Amino acid sequence: MRATARARWRLAPLGALLLIAAWGAPTAHGAEARLRIVATLPDLFVLTRAVAGEGATVDLIARFGQNPHDMEVRPSQILLVRRADVLVRNGLEEDAWIDVMVNAGANPRVLRGSPNVVDASQGVHILKVLTGRVDRSLGDVHPLGSPHYTLDPDNVAIVTANIAAGLARAAPESARAFEANRQALLERVAEADRRWKAALAPFRGTAIVSYHDSWPYFYRAFGFVEGGVVEDRPGIPASPQHLAALIRHMREQQIKVILHESWYPSDLTARIARETGAKLLVVPQSPGALKGTEDYITHLEHLVSALANALK
Ligand SMILES: [Zn+2]
Repeated sequence: MRATARARWRLAPLGALLLIAAWGAPTAHGAEARLRIVATLPDLFVLTRAVAGEGATVDLIARFGQNPHDMEVRPSQILLVRRADVLVRNGLEEDAWIDVMVNAGANPRVLRGSPNVVDASQGVHILKVLTGRVDRSLGDVHPLGSPHYTLDPDNVAIVTANIAAGLARAAPESARAFEANRQALLERVAEADRRWKAALAPFRGTAIVSYHDSWPYFYRAFGFVEGGVVEDRPGIPASPQHLAALIRHMREQQIKVILHESWYPSDLTARIARETGAKLLVVPQSPGALKGTEDYITHLEHLVSALANALK
């Protein structure tokens, strides 16, 4: 049934939420207090941590390796939001559940529209923006275009500029430190990106299929072509017609690799791989899902080398 695939979040038992609401107003912070930052998703978390450096606490709402399109709202998350000075969010509804937490946490500093809320997507050229009516009742989880923009290393400069500006608004005295941290990160990313582009250069123009529509920015960055997506639309399971057409297309185009995001069950993708002779490559879509990939560079490094090995 299609409805089971829609983007969803569930609330923890009501009693737990009421308990949090009873804890009184969020505490005010003096200028001397450590800045408390909350990031919704792992990609934003690792970039925020790199910009914030030692002078701030950064917490992550979604767990490493957790599918952000399927979240359960827990009291511990509401508490983090309640205490936050700054909130870093995706901006394209990848983390729409954060609004539930912000409302439950009753922290005016991180309400939508507050200067302490960073929309990390500001200024990014968004791919796959839908035209016409977007019907979320059908389960589409990318209502404002593809939210997976940090998978293009070129977007790191824009995203971290948004983060640094937001942190500086909350802690102007640390603005220079944030910018210095950001520049150091950008240098390391630029150096790594040259290596990644060289490693994937032999495969430019290769068509790749994926389970979820996670990779448009990654494909563009490294010269791949989208060969199809197993889900009918983001968050919507494949219909038999869609699957048949995809398998036919993969055979005709001799597509060699299917990227499968590790937080989805892989049975269907494995079956398509068997039927088409393509290689099933299970990869994490965001940092931290695998040991040793807890920052931006190690995560991308893992994706690039897994793909280069699979295409060899
Ligand atoms: Zn997605």
